[in-house]
Amino acid sequence: MSLHIPCPNCGSRPVEEFLYGEISTVPDSITDADARDVDRAFMHNNPEGAQIERWFHVFGCRRWLTMRRDTRTDEVIGTSWRGY
Ligand SMILES: [Zn+2]
Repeated sequence: MSLHIPCPNCGSRPVEEFLYGEISTVPDSITDADARDVDRAFMHNNPEGAQIERWFHVFGCRRWLTMRRDTRTDEVIGTSWRGY
């Protein structure tokens, strides 16, 4: 079963209509420019539990939304236009 995201404007829509928009952050301890690029491109976080994420409804209303999701179960706890 595919994950459905409740868009505040369009209602429940399949995840395939959305684009994930993580803002990658590089630790300040990495100062070399090349090392920062490598970290930004390949060192993604995979946190466990309830997370706040940003998603863009690319095949819908074309707006960014904030979603709170439990990464262990894929349960969508809620969505809103702004943060939690
Ligand atoms: Zn939408």
